[in-house]
Amino acid sequence: MSDGAHRHKVVIIGSGFGGLFGTRALKRADVDVTLVAKTTHHLFQPLLYQVATGILSEGEIAPATRMVLRKQRNVEVLLGEVTDIDLENRTVTSHLLERTTVTPYDSLIVAAGADQSYFGNDQFAEFAPGMKNIDDALELRGRILGAFEQAELSHDHEERMRLLTFVVIGAGPTGVELAGQIAEMSDNTLKGAFRNIDPTEARVILLDAAPAVLPPMGKKLGDMAAKRLEKMGVEIQLNAMVVDVDADGLVVREKDGTERRIEAQCKVWSAGVAASKLGAVLAEQSGAEIDRAGRVRVLPDLTIPGNPNVFVVGDMMLVDGVPGMAQGAIQGSTYAAKAIIAGLKGQSPADRKPFKYFDKGSMATISRGDAVAKVGKLEFGGFFAWLGWLALHLWYIVGYQNRVITLTSWGVTFLTNKRGQMTITEQQVYARTALDALQTGAKKAIPPVHTSSPRALHKTEAPAAKAPATAPSKDAEQAG
Ligand SMILES: Cc1cc2nc3c(=O)[nH]c(=O)nc-3n(C[C@H](O)[C@H](O)[C@H](O)COP(=O)(O)OP(=O)(O)OC[C@H]3O[C@@H](n4cnc5c(N)ncnc54)[C@H](O)[C@@H]3O)c2cc1C
Repeated sequence: MSDGAHRHKVVIIGSGFGGLFGTRALKRADVDVTLVAKTTHHLFQPLLYQVATGILSEGEIAPATRMVLRKQRNVEVLLGEVTDIDLENRTVTSHLLERTTVTPYDSLIVAAGADQSYFGNDQFAEFAPGMKNIDDALELRGRILGAFEQAELSHDHEERMRLLTFVVIGAGPTGVELAGQIAEMSDNTLKGAFRNIDPTEARVILLDAAPAVLPPMGKKLGDMAAKRLEKMGVEIQLNAMVVDVDADGLVVREKDGTERRIEAQCKVWSAGVAASKLGAVLAEQSGAEIDRAGRVRVLPDLTIPGNPNVFVVGDMMLVDGVPGMAQGAIQGSTYAAKAIIAGLKGQSPADRKPFKYFDKGSMATISRGDAVAKVGKLEFGGFFAWLGWLALHLWYIVGYQNRVITLTSWGVTFLTNKRGQMTITEQQVYARTALDALQTGAKKAIPPVHTSSPRALHKTEAPAAKAPATAPSKDAEQAG
C-alpha cells in the first residue's frame, strides 16, 4: 500500500500488447510504474508481414514507447534486456550494452512475449528467418526483393527457378498472410518492373507438417483460405515436415516417410513460438510449471505460486482456453493492473476473482479484399471479413497519426497495387549475423545502477564506455 514516503512501485517487463496496455491501465493509480523493455518501441506484430512485403514502414506499426507514454506522468521507460528476476529480493536486472540496471518492485507484471521456435533446429534460422520483430521483417523484405533482383541477373534456368521460389513454412495466420502477400506482390506490384524475368512466374509454396491450413480457425475457414490461396497460385503442401534447411533449399519429409527436396533461395519460418526465457527464471524460483513452449502455468489470478504480487501475462502465460493472441495479452495485463489497484485499496489476493478471457474472435487476410473471420459461432470469408479486418487493425494501431498514415498507405496499395516501402539495404540482409558475431566479447562492465527512484538512475548515469563502432548491440540497432 502507498504511504507518504513510498509510493507502490510497479515494474512491467515488455512494451508489447501486455506491457503497454497494463501500463495504460495504471494511468490513474497511485503508483510509480517502470516499464523495462529491450526494444524502444511498441510493436504491432499482426502487421509485420506488411512491413516485410513493402506495404507499411516500420514506424507505422512500431511507435516509440516513450513517446506513446510521454503524458502518463507516473511512468518511466527504461531500455534494457531483462536477464534476471529475483523474487526474494523483489528486483529486476536488465542490461543495455555494458550497463546493468537493478530495479526494485512491489508488484511485477511480466509480459516479455515469445520468440520464434525452430523445435530444436535453431540452425534453420540462418536460412529461414522468422518474423517476430522489425529486424526480422526488414530482413525478410530484403530477402524477398533481393531474390527477384538476383533472378534478373541470372541466365541459368534452374538457378532462376530457385531464386523465384518462395517457401513459407507454417500455415497459421502469419504464414497464410505472408504467402498471400508474396503472391500478390509478384503478380501485381512487380509486374512489368523487370526486363529479363517475369515476376508473375514466381512460385509461392505454403507448407505445414499439420494436415490443415489455419488449424486454430477450424476446418471450414481453413479450407476456404486454402482454396482462395490456390486460386492466387499459391501451392499448398500439407503433412509435409521440414527436416533440413540450407542456403539453396529445404528437405521435406512426407507422412509416409519419404523425403524430397525443394530448391528455393527465400524461405520464411512461421511455424512455432517459444515463450521468453524469463518464464523459466520465474518457474525455477516459484515452483510454477512451464510447458514445452516455455509458457508459465499461472494461478487463476495470473500470478505464480507464493508470489501474489507477480503476474505473468500474454504469450508467456499458460491459461487453458486463452490463445497466444493480442487479446489474451491485453485482457491479461488489464486484469493484473486492476488487481494491483484493488490491492492498494485493501483487497487481499485471496479475494481476487479469477481471470476470465473474453473471446473476441480471430481473423486472417488472404489478399486484397479477401479475409476469413471467426466471431463467436459465426464463420465467414470474403470482402466483409476483409473490411472488418481493416477496421479492427486500424483501431488497435497505437496513435492517431499512425492510423492516418497507415490508412493512406493501405489506400495506395489497395487502390493502385503500388507499395511505398520497397527499399532494401545490403545490411538488412547480410549484416545481422555478422554484427551478432562481432558483438560477442569486447564489453566492459559498468557497476550496476540501482533505480530505487527515477532520480537515482539519472544521477549515477556515467558516460558509457564506447561500444565498438562496428558492433552495436541488437538494442542499439533497434533504437536507431
Ligand atoms: C507475425 C505475427 C502476427 C500476429 N498476428 C496476430 C493477429 O493477427 N491477431 C492477434 O490477435 N495476434 C497476432 N499475433 C500474436 C500477438 O502479436 C501476440 O499474442 C501478442 O503480441 C502477445 O503480447 P505480449 O505482450 O505477450 O508479447 P509481445 O507483444 O511480443 O511483447 C513482448 C515485449 O517484451 C519485450 N521483451 C522480450 N524479452 C525481453 C527481455 N528479456 N527484457 C526486456 N524486454 C523484453 C519485447 O521487446 C516486447 O516489447 C501475431 C504475432 C506475430 C509474431
